[in-house]
Formats: sequence, C-alpha cells, structure tokens
Amino acid sequence: MNVTCNVIKDILPLYLENMLSDDSTEMVEKHLEHCQECKNYLEELKTFHQVPVDTNISPLLKIKSSIRKKNILTAILAMMIAIMLIVITIAFLTAPKYIPYSERSVTLNEAENGWILVKFENTVSGYDIDQYPTEDNSGYVYHITTWNNTWNKMIKKSKVNYTVLNPNGENVVSVYYYQADGSEDILMYGKDINQGGGIITLPRMFLSYYLLAAIVCTVVCGGVMIIWHRHKKVFRFTLMIFYLSVSYLLSHLIVKGFTTSSYSATRDFFAIVLVLIPMYVAFLTVLHLFRKYKAKNQ
Ligand SMILES: [Zn+2]
Repeated sequence: MNVTCNVIKDILPLYLENMLSDDSTEMVEKHLEHCQECKNYLEELKTFHQVPVDTNISPLLKIKSSIRKKNILTAILAMMIAIMLIVITIAFLTAPKYIPYSERSVTLNEAENGWILVKFENTVSGYDIDQYPTEDNSGYVYHITTWNNTWNKMIKKSKVNYTVLNPNGENVVSVYYYQADGSEDILMYGKDINQGGGIITLPRMFLSYYLLAAIVCTVVCGGVMIIWHRHKKVFRFTLMIFYLSVSYLLSHLIVKGFTTSSYSATRDFFAIVLVLIPMYVAFLTVLHLFRKYKAKNQ
C-alpha cells in the first residue's frame, strides 16, 4: 500500500492539471476513496496551485490602477480649472477703480492732539497712502488716493470711514490727492511743495519687466526645445520652464490685459500668481494625460 501511496503522490500534480490518461485518473480516484493521507496531500497541492493563479490577475490590476490614475489626473485638471475660474472672477470683482477727486470723497480734519484725520465718503472701499519726508526733513508729504470695486458695490459693503495720517505725531507738510490717471496731483492740505510745478504720481512699472522676462524666457525655451528636441532630458526640463513662462504670460493677459503699468501693481502681481499656479498645474496634468494616451496607443 505504501508504495502505491508514493506513486500516487508522484502523479497527483499531473492529476490536478488533468494531464493523466483515463486509466491513471481512475486509479488515482480509486486510491483517494480510501486513503486519507493522499487526500490530504491533494488538498495541500490544491492550495499551492492557487499561487500562480493569483499572479495571473496582475495585468488586470495594472489596468485598473492605470484607469484610477487617469481618473485622478482628470479630477485634478477639473479642480485646477475651477480654482482658476474662481480666482479670475474674484480678481475682476476686486480690481480697484480709482475715484476722481472731489471735496466730498475725502476730507481732512485736524484733531486737538495734532493728528490729521482723513475721513472717507461712503462710496470709498479702499485707499492708498504714500508718505515721504520733505527735502529739508521738516516733515512729511502724503499722497492719497481712494478706490472702489465691484465686489464692494454688489456683494459685500465694507466701507472705510477714516484713518489717521500721522499716528506718531509726524509733521504733515502737505497732502496731495492723486487720481491714478496720470493727471496732476491735487493739493488738499498744507503748502504746495512744488510751487505750481505740478506733481504727478506715476503708476508702477515692474509688471512690464516681469512680462518682458516671461516673453524672453518663452522664446529662449522654445529655441532650446527646437535645437535639443532629440535630447529627452533637456527637452522635458525645458518644457516645464516653457509652460511656466507661458502660464505667466497668459495670467498677465487675463488679469491685466495689454496694460503693464499699474497703480496697484503689487495687488495685480498677487492676482497674476494666483491664476498662474492652477494654470501651471493644469498644463502639467494635461501633459501627463497626453503622455499616457500616447503610450497606450503605441
Ligand atoms: Zn495513499
């Protein structure tokens, strides 16, 4: 009996794979009917057999994870576009509209302690004050402007009421109002330090330098990619920078149009960067999806 058991055990793997002749199969089955030991051995073999079956579904898992990755990328893309639209909307609603000078919009009052109080009309939702010392250091010159925006007009009325020009007791020599349109500043208080010469508060220009840098960067990257298009690493790296500068150009165009000078340049730059970030991520996501699509169709 023992010899037969060993013989049976030897051919059980073949039996499991249905590779035995009918006679041998019959012999094995007959033996299994009354031999518990061989039955146990067969069970063991069966559990062993399931391991290679497991590895067979790995391509399926791969496809599944690739689909999941694509879904995640698509979700990221949709999210970035949504964020971009929200930021653009907010940027437009909060873009300052400078208010031309009128005696009612801003009034100055001297307090007993020497403070100069600036009082704003209801329509004012924000202001800018520049301060610089006079040439003889006898005091300070101030330039004020006020603005409003659609957000404050339509959505949330937040108005500023007043501010103190010289909270530390500075000597106020003169106060000018500038209308942020290139016209001459209007003397509101104190003496005219330019005696009829006329002062114009100019917009800030640094956005135009940034824009120029982005244009140069785009052109240079474009050139590098054309020349080294066969060099995969160089090409891919340059493409990242290319996308970044193109994102900056587009963001500037969206926020500022073709204008490069601004009286609220810092705020505008901030808005441009907030549009740029989701736009850049969206570009990279599209690039990723495109590469996946290409790889699949090769
Ligand atoms: Zn047996």
